[in-house]
Amino acid sequence: MYNGKIIDSHFHAYAGKDCEDFLQDLMMKSGLDGICIASIPKGLAHGEHFYNEEALKLKMENPGKIYFFGGLDYSDKSYLKGKVDFAKQAKKLFDAGADGIKMLEGKPNARKTLGLPIDSSIFDSYYSYMQENSFPIILHVADPEEFWDPDKASDFAKEHGWFWGDGSFPSKEQLYAETEGVLKKFPKLKLILAHFYFMSADVGKASEFMDKWKNVSFDITPGYEMYHNFSKHPSAWKSFFMKYSGRIFFGTDNTAPSDGNSREHLNCSAARIAEMRKFLETDNEVFSGRGLKLDRDSLKKIYSGNFLRAISH
Ligand SMILES: [Zn+2]
Repeated sequence: MYNGKIIDSHFHAYAGKDCEDFLQDLMMKSGLDGICIASIPKGLAHGEHFYNEEALKLKMENPGKIYFFGGLDYSDKSYLKGKVDFAKQAKKLFDAGADGIKMLEGKPNARKTLGLPIDSSIFDSYYSYMQENSFPIILHVADPEEFWDPDKASDFAKEHGWFWGDGSFPSKEQLYAETEGVLKKFPKLKLILAHFYFMSADVGKASEFMDKWKNVSFDITPGYEMYHNFSKHPSAWKSFFMKYSGRIFFGTDNTAPSDGNSREHLNCSAARIAEMRKFLETDNEVFSGRGLKLDRDSLKKIYSGNFLRAISH
């Protein structure tokens, strides 16, 4: 069993709700050394997770344990005319102590509300500022393919309002094209694409993308479809994980409880971590196949090394 440092780079909390006790309990129970709270942009979608002020405070009170990626603020709609300075917003967050920026702007519902492509020139000064300072961005782009397919979208997705096939949302191809649009302009941007950029169905395509954009990383935050895909082809994915071990980030998408510090929620969150660890550290049966049983050096980078390097600007 791996006994080095583990940091969850992708965790969400609820606006206005103190989650410090939960974070401490979760770290203790599941052997995590740190948790990074990913705030969500304000005014696009999933606003219940906009957590900038609260997360900053928690980070300051728990140095080296709690980390913080802030979200941009879209409440002033004059951004549509290029009148909001997102570089200034980012600078304010970093001056206050943020470790990075979390963007949800490429998720179909957030992108629809945004009303502009994520490679729009209104973001140029912001991306340029991030690139110059080597500040990391965790960017959520697209979603699992099924979310666009009326026959395959799960009831879970439909119930959550995550069905993108009615023609009013951008396609997965368009979202990918916009992401490459950002990278063409800012090829040195420290971009961490959340949820493996939803490319787990095709190891060839994922490798091609990694080779094309050398400064891009993927996080392995579930979507479980990813783990089912990986575990069906463990040897191909093991090679991928070893080759790109310096560009893969461990994250869980665990959340703080929405009401109180419930035991059950803590157990579920810890169980998710245990299952992901089983997949990464053993070749036992897990998900739809087998785990990868990665070497210690790769695990160290994926679990914490890459994250710590990314935030040390
Ligand atoms: Zn997330």
